[in-house]
This record gives sequence, structure tokens and C-alpha cells, in this order.
Amino acid sequence: MVTAANVDATRAGAGRVSVLDQTSYYQATAHAAPDCPRLDGNADADVCIIGGGFTGLSAALELAKKGFSVQVLEAGPIAWGASGRNGGHICTGFSKGLGAFEKALGKTAARVAFEVAEQAKTLIVERIAAYNIDCDLTWGYLTAAPRPSHMADLAAERDELEAYGYDKTTLLARAELEARLATRVYHGALHDSGAGHFHTLNYALGLARAVIAEGGSIAAHTRVLKVEPGNRVKIVTATGTVTAAQTIVACNGYLGNLIPRLDAKVMAVASYVIATAPLGAERAKGLIGDNAAVGDANFVTDYFRLTADTRVLFGGRCSYSGIDPSDLAAGMRPRLLRIFPQLADVAIDYAWGGHIGITYNRLPDVGRIGTNIYYAQGYSGQGVALAGMFGKLMAEAIAGDAGRFDVFTRIRHAPFPGGPLRRPALTIGMLYYRLRDLLA
Ligand SMILES: Cc1cc2nc3c(=O)[nH]c(=O)nc-3n(C[C@H](O)[C@H](O)[C@H](O)COP(=O)(O)OP(=O)(O)OC[C@H]3O[C@@H](n4cnc5c(N)ncnc54)[C@H](O)[C@@H]3O)c2cc1C
Repeated sequence: MVTAANVDATRAGAGRVSVLDQTSYYQATAHAAPDCPRLDGNADADVCIIGGGFTGLSAALELAKKGFSVQVLEAGPIAWGASGRNGGHICTGFSKGLGAFEKALGKTAARVAFEVAEQAKTLIVERIAAYNIDCDLTWGYLTAAPRPSHMADLAAERDELEAYGYDKTTLLARAELEARLATRVYHGALHDSGAGHFHTLNYALGLARAVIAEGGSIAAHTRVLKVEPGNRVKIVTATGTVTAAQTIVACNGYLGNLIPRLDAKVMAVASYVIATAPLGAERAKGLIGDNAAVGDANFVTDYFRLTADTRVLFGGRCSYSGIDPSDLAAGMRPRLLRIFPQLADVAIDYAWGGHIGITYNRLPDVGRIGTNIYYAQGYSGQGVALAGMFGKLMAEAIAGDAGRFDVFTRIRHAPFPGGPLRRPALTIGMLYYRLRDLLA
């Protein structure tokens, strides 16, 4: 159950413990974190990376492998942001689909984008194998249709993917879906055998160990307070300074006002997750027969899956207003029971949340500030695989091959409305989409 006892006040820092920072299933079942002492004093590096999530750790790993000296600075524990607390769904493609890339950049660039997204998944598999990362990787993904009209959307998605040569999807009619998934709420689904799920924090901790094994350095609990651009960038923290030839900003939905021009283009949206008590193998199998991850086709998505220890890990309910619900587990439970009423007797053991970084057009925002500060952010709810890949693309660019990175820097991003109108404007926009989900 979620009680005061599993609210991790020390990690959340001083003051009120945010509902987002209640102990997660991932933290409770995490492998030991590598030792990443706080920065103490001044250091030099070829590349300083701000943010220890998938984007930052992946860039660090690639750069360390190429022989760069790398210093990662992370404000909290490793993967304290979205990478350590998400739904664990490894998705195909981009949240907005490939049509958005065709429109923004043309067909050739959209093909590069598709290949990058495919490699994002392969990269996970390769790293798990290369660094022996134990993180419960499982394949199979269902995009379920809450409305009959979604079936046409899913068929269109399958056709779009097939046009790019992707042949791992199958459209399932209602009866076929119900043979795999013990709920009556969906009208069918698109099954994707090339997408899946994993224990996100254990994967991130494995990446951190890999960075250190390849000679990189990670300082946790080291918040960057200031970035001073220049020939060599000066990155200032409360306990020391790093001077680096190149810098990567990988803070995404946790950036805050560190670099206002980046913050203007990414909005931090809260998403919430609960994990039930273990169901036992038989009951779990009866719920999601082939152990696929499931996300629905609504704009504001419910997403769920089984964990290796037979819990249901269920997420959804975004807060665009910045207001957290006072009792997260109680607030989320009815959403879970609407899909699986047969779980009414099952306790909720964990409830937590995190910040998703979204952009106005839902396409990733990547680029450079000057010549030596790189950034990638705003995967818009689909960054579990993509973040690692964009970290790799930044490492490629720093090492002298910016070809793939610069395909994405061409995307134009509008800033969210600033000042006091920033959140209200998004909230109103999201109410429209929720209404659309209900009426479609
Ligand atoms: C609840 C939730 C569920 C999600 N589910 C899915 C899913 O199922 N599938 C999917 O594809 N995507 C999902 N996402 C999105 C996905 O997790 C992210 O896109 C991805 O993890 C982003 O990785 P990142 O490294 O760019 O950012 P993060 O993992 O957020 O890392 C940013 C890091 O920067 C650090 N930081 C910030 N400011 C500073 C500073 N000043 N100094 C030092 N460090 C700093 C933060 O502490 C943080 O650790 C979900 C996100 C959330 C929150």
C-alpha cells in the first residue's frame, strides 16, 4: 500500500514530498546503483553531460567508448527523472507517427527518422547483451482501440509502418484481442512483435555501470546551477565546476529554468503510475496472455503491463495543470478497475509519477546552442527507446559525424506561450483532447 512509510522524503529533498516522488516499484526492486560520488572541486573534461537519464547516460557511454573524457552531472540519484520511473514501454517509431516527419522534413528525412527509431530499439538489445544488464526485457506490444473508430486509425498506422518496410504488426479484431487480454473495453488492437517492455530503472543503472566501465565519470546528487558558454564551457555546481570543450544538456522534462531558451520549447507534463500487489503467475497470465505491454489509442493514453514479479504496472492520467492529486493510488485505481474489474480485491502497493517532456508539435527538439552546447529533449511520451538513440546521435555529432543528428535539427519548434499563460494554455488544449477521446 502507499503509506507515509514508503514516501522517500530524503530523496525528494527539503520541503513537501511531491506525490511524484513516492517510492516507485522500480526503486523498490532496483539492483544496487554504482558508486557515483558528488562532484567535489574542479574538473576538466572533453564533454560534460548535464542529466543522468537515458539521453545523458547513452551519450556518455558512446563518447567514453570513443575515448573522450566524459563527466556526467546528475541532480539526483542516477535516472532520478523520467528514465527511472516510466511505464517501461519500448515503442516503435515516434509518438506523432512518421507522417509528421514527412510533413516537416520530406520523405527522405522521414526514412532516416524511421531508421533511427528502429535502431533505438536495437541499441537497447545490444547494450543489454554487451554489458549484461538484467532488466526483464520482454517483447510484444498491443495498441488497443477504446473506440470503434480507432480501428481505422490502427489500420492506417500499420499501413504507414509497412510503407517503411516494417512487417511486425498484425491487426487483431475484438475476439482475437479478448483471447489475449482479459478485458471487454477494447474494440481490437494492433499487435507489434517488435516493441515491448522492461524494468526501466535497472536498465538505466546498467547503463550507468557501463559508462563507468568504459572510463566515464558520473557525479550523482550534483545539480548544475549555471552554464557559462564559451570556447570552453564552464558548468557550475554548488560543490565544484567542470570546464569542458563540449557540453550536452540532457535534462528534458526536469530542465526547469537552467537554460530558459530550451525550457521554452519543452513542457513538463506529469504522468502517474501505480503497481498492484503481485497477482501470482497463473492470475497474471490470465490477464495478459502473452505478456505484451498495452497502450490505448487515445490522445491521453492509459498504458499497462505485467512486471516480472506478476504485478500490473498501470499508468496514465496526465496532469497538464501542474496540480498533483492528493491521493494518487486512490485516484488511479478506478481507471485500472474500469479495464480490469476482476482486480477489485488486489491492493495497490506503489504509486508515483514523473515529468514527461513534450514539445508543441510532439516531435523531438534537438540542436546546438553556439557550436559546443548540444541538447535533445521532448520525446513527447515515447522516449524510453528514443532518448538513448538521441544520446548516441549527439555523441556521433561531437565525434565529427553530425549527418543523422542534423536531420533532426531542421525541425522547427514553436515555444509554448510564456509567462503566466504557459500552463493554462496547455491545460485548455489538453481538455480539448480529453473531450475528443470521449467523443470520438
Ligand atoms: C510516468 C512516466 C511514464 C512514461 N512512460 C513511458 C513509456 O512507457 N514509454 C516511453 O517510450 N516513454 C515513457 N515516458 C517518457 C520517457 O521516460 C522519457 O522520454 C525518457 O526517459 C527521457 O529521458 P531523458 O534522459 O531525456 O530525461 P530524464 O530521464 O527525465 O532525465 C533528465 C535528468 O536530468 C536531471 N537534471 C535536471 N536538471 C538538472 C540539473 N540542473 N543538473 C543536473 N541534472 C539535472 C534530472 O534529475 C533527470 O534525472 C514516460 C515518462 C514518465 C514520467
